[in-house]
Amino acid sequence: MIKEIAVGIVIAAVIFLALQGVNLLPLLLLGALGYLLYNLSGLKVLNKGFQGQASPSTGRITFADIGGQENAKKEIREALEFVRDSSTARQLGIRPLKGILLVGPPGTGKTLLAKAAAAYTGASFIAAAGSEFVEMYAGVGAQRIRELFHQARELARQNNRKNATIFIDEIDVLGGKRGQHTGHLEYDQTLNQLLVEMDGITASDEFRILLIGATNRVDLLDEALLRPGRFDRIIHVDLPDKDGRLQILRLHTANKPLAADVNLESIARQTFGFSGAHLESLANEAAILAFREREKKLRQEHFLEAIDKVMLGEKMDRQPNEDELRRIAVHEIGHALVSERIRPGSVSTVTIIPRGGALGYVREVPEADSYLQTRRQLEERIQLLVAGSIAEEILFQSRSTGASNDFLEAAQLAKKMVYAGMSELGIVDPDSLPRQLLHKAVAQILQTQEELVRGELQDKVEVICCVSKELLQEEKLSGERLRQLIAGGDKPQPLERAQLA
Ligand code: ADP
Repeated sequence: MIKEIAVGIVIAAVIFLALQGVNLLPLLLLGALGYLLYNLSGLKVLNKGFQGQASPSTGRITFADIGGQENAKKEIREALEFVRDSSTARQLGIRPLKGILLVGPPGTGKTLLAKAAAAYTGASFIAAAGSEFVEMYAGVGAQRIRELFHQARELARQNNRKNATIFIDEIDVLGGKRGQHTGHLEYDQTLNQLLVEMDGITASDEFRILLIGATNRVDLLDEALLRPGRFDRIIHVDLPDKDGRLQILRLHTANKPLAADVNLESIARQTFGFSGAHLESLANEAAILAFREREKKLRQEHFLEAIDKVMLGEKMDRQPNEDELRRIAVHEIGHALVSERIRPGSVSTVTIIPRGGALGYVREVPEADSYLQTRRQLEERIQLLVAGSIAEEILFQSRSTGASNDFLEAAQLAKKMVYAGMSELGIVDPDSLPRQLLHKAVAQILQTQEELVRGELQDKVEVICCVSKELLQEEKLSGERLRQLIAGGDKPQPLERAQLA
């Protein structure tokens, strides 16, 4: 407000002087110079104080609110014992724990763990993100670090606490290796200030500060940060396994009415690779679907559809035309038939309802979580991926661009096989393998698998026609219905090849 009034007065004065015939050029130049200096010195930003999302919160989240992550929880609790029983630790001469680094992919609960850690030690909690410390103006980041530590102490004082926890998300943004940023030394200054603050934490401080950092890229961090006495503990927070996913689903459905048919175990099995944040969103989407259908309880069907939504995105409004739909149906049935041959019972749904970037898709029921793949599994996955396009080729004598993502994934898998020493090249050194040779080996793998699938699907043309017809009518087939149709137990009129083409 004051700023606006001042600007108004200056403009009025300038106009008045101009009307009086005063030469304003030197005055204007002086003003511009002052403005420039004011900005460059970073004063403007500093005067506003720390502007980040340092939301002071006591963090009522506890470890019981975090599903899975048993290892991480155990390690953090162990580390925090020194903070909880600091007098014994001090008597034994143990230096105070200053920093814990949580390393893992986004959405796995690192922020929750930091909040739970604060609650566990009765500390006040303040959070900021690494990007808030990166500014164009030299010195601003360092000043903000000072502010953050100052605020943490103030908050603890206000809340009558002895401990304060500072959480810095994406700490790699400000804690990257020094000397690598060209242009200016701003990043380095910010990191230096963080190191100074950490070194300044002593056992005799009025408030004991614990810094918890989170990152997905520990390899990018400056080694000085990881030295003993700084981030003393590195704790890995991985994507949850099946049991972890089940626990997280239970936590996020605890406040939702579930119908009797809901089987969270089966949903946990079908969500390999989902983070805690994905699962939270899944439970929420299922509730939204129930709300839209004006149902009082969430059904299994809502959860299954929510999985598709979280994985692929919202249903698309634009409908493909009839020719495209026929092609999409045949493509998806190609995938589904090969999937059922490789692992009977593996298809959960086939649909030609476009969603996100996909025009149609086959959802599989994954097996138990697996972290290793054998050569056979990789080959079978490639067969499954190329099957859609080959079905199109057999029925319509041509392929379409709809398969580009399939091919991309298939090529990645083939490359993985080459690097794992599973190709005709034998064991290779990825760094010195000529691109030409790699390309040849990948093409060879893909071609072999394509041939196998072509032979298989040529024998199944009639089934493809049958099932495609029903898929076109119904838009979505359950795995059970698909298996009935494959077994020929309940045959609809086969769709003539000519009708499809
Ligand atoms: P990160 O800091 O690792 O990116 P967050 O802790 O911010 O992830 O998690 C984001 C959201 O995801 C949380 O608010 C919570 O709803 C959900 N979430 C993530 N992991 C878990 C978990 N292990 N248990 C329960 N909810 C979780």
